[in-house]
Amino acid sequence: MAQLLLRGIELGEVEAVLFDKDGTLSISEPQLVTLAQARVFLCLDQVEERLRPALSELLHRAYGLRTQPHAADPAAAAICPAGITAVASRDHNLIATATALVQVGLGWPEALAISEQVFAQADAADARRAAGAAAGATSRTTEGLHDWLGRLQAAGVRCAVISNDDVAGIETFLSAHGLSAFFGAIWSAEHSPRKPDPAAVHALCALLGVSAARCALIGDANSDLRMAVAAGIPHQRALGYTAAWSAPPPLAEPHPRVHHWDELVLA
Ligand SMILES: [Mg+2]
Repeated sequence: MAQLLLRGIELGEVEAVLFDKDGTLSISEPQLVTLAQARVFLCLDQVEERLRPALSELLHRAYGLRTQPHAADPAAAAICPAGITAVASRDHNLIATATALVQVGLGWPEALAISEQVFAQADAADARRAAGAAAGATSRTTEGLHDWLGRLQAAGVRCAVISNDDVAGIETFLSAHGLSAFFGAIWSAEHSPRKPDPAAVHALCALLGVSAARCALIGDANSDLRMAVAAGIPHQRALGYTAAWSAPPPLAEPHPRVHHWDELVLA
């Protein structure tokens, strides 16, 4: 079994490492900004003009879509790493959208119908963009990821993805970057229960044939880290990854933080 060290500090022996995808394996912010902006635009188009300013503000706050502080371009947008666009599944984002529509005066059936239509349109636009962009179709990987996965593989440590993206989204990302062979299992929003239920960690560990107590989990959201600890992963191996966002995610102390994959070593 391999000893995992973070900046020279021993974190214990590991059989497997479980990775969140968005904001951990991938730099997803540019794609998430585009998706959230498309959803706002399409929603505003569906309501009377007098409702648009209030709806726009509600949706920006709900989605965690904001102007990027300190950016050279004053119009540069950013996604809050703890907001629903960054963290929640598509259906939770859809319910939040319908809730914003209700808050500006629509009835729930109409709000839900508009949200479903808007999400389908935004997905279709997303798919067209992906099909049209040969190289940039999927999110970039975080810096140093390939080397880190290679070190894990060489040490015989199993790897898995635990994400609230769907299976197709996870597999497309992995294969686009030549990462599929590094991962022995995935757990998606289509699996039950989905994260952040600690039972999702247990089910994924069962697929890998390892015990949660011999795992590390690396994610960029407090919900990932809380889930890991609740599932029996030792606190010092529930690791917060910070390097994928324009503003670092607000991770709870005292989970150890990883700022670059080079900080992790196996011995
Ligand atoms: Mg994430």
